[in-house]
Amino acid sequence: MDLQAILDGIHAELLPRLGEGKVADYIPELAKVDPRQFGMAIVTVDGQVHSVGDAQAPFSIQSISKVFMLTLALGKVGEQLWTRVGREPSGSAFNSIVQLEHEAGIPRNPFINAGAIAISDVVLSGHAPREAIGELLRFVRYLSDDEAVTIDEKVARSETQTGFRNFALANFMRSYGNLDHPVEHVLGVYFHQCALSMNCQQLAKAGLYLAARGTNPLTGHSVVSPKRARRINALMLTCGHYDGSGDFAYHVGLPGKSGVGGGIMAVAPGIASIAVWSPGLNKVGNSQLGAVALEMLAARTGWSVFGD
Ligand code: GLN
Repeated sequence: MDLQAILDGIHAELLPRLGEGKVADYIPELAKVDPRQFGMAIVTVDGQVHSVGDAQAPFSIQSISKVFMLTLALGKVGEQLWTRVGREPSGSAFNSIVQLEHEAGIPRNPFINAGAIAISDVVLSGHAPREAIGELLRFVRYLSDDEAVTIDEKVARSETQTGFRNFALANFMRSYGNLDHPVEHVLGVYFHQCALSMNCQQLAKAGLYLAARGTNPLTGHSVVSPKRARRINALMLTCGHYDGSGDFAYHVGLPGKSGVGGGIMAVAPGIASIAVWSPGLNKVGNSQLGAVALEMLAARTGWSVFGD
């Protein structure tokens, strides 16, 4: 299969549509991003790397970082984690607060904001916030085998100044006893993880362990057990796109995680890891053209986990 030709074809078809969707403007720093950008990269488990468009341009990975933080938290506390956060799709927006009250401060899953904030609290345990952020940055550099991955301080600051809803979620959980650390510390970690700045190629490499039974086949780095990789993929499939998760499974059929920076990381188990970036978002906050590109890729490669 000529993956480069497939990527080139998708790029060419989407060129006239660049700029569709709406950039996230509730984070002032993200509102400045030019929506007419598009990049995509594929890294296969046998080591091929293909990319197209703005695949070398760094962008804010935002909620995609929740996959890496979940991996770290599971490494720290194992299955115990599931006393702090659930594993069910939420059916509501990524920053929704309503379910939290009904469910006594236990977020539905690790990928909505409340769930990710609870996980930042777990990773923070035994550390100063700066150390927890450093641990995540080292982990993501290790996963992508690239020391050039950074955190964009401007984005982190922008969110710290305007993330009132995340402060509300965190305070609410703290009132239920589901946060052990001060809200400012937990959100310091959370805003910095969201501000990780990566390009499509780095992100596709970072996700490769999930496509390859927990071990990055390019570096030989063993990250998690095959069972854990399978389970993280299951969570991405069911919860990775918030209340757009069912639609993403229907159209694309791959475990994936989106972020409001316009990125999506997707996994074709046993085959490849894929990253796509296009900043314009759809109504539920997922990259509009990113999802279209992945739908085209899945259709042209037969990689959907539900069959070809
Ligand atoms: N940092 C963003 C927020 O908390 C992450 C949301 C997202 O990417 N869906 O609102």
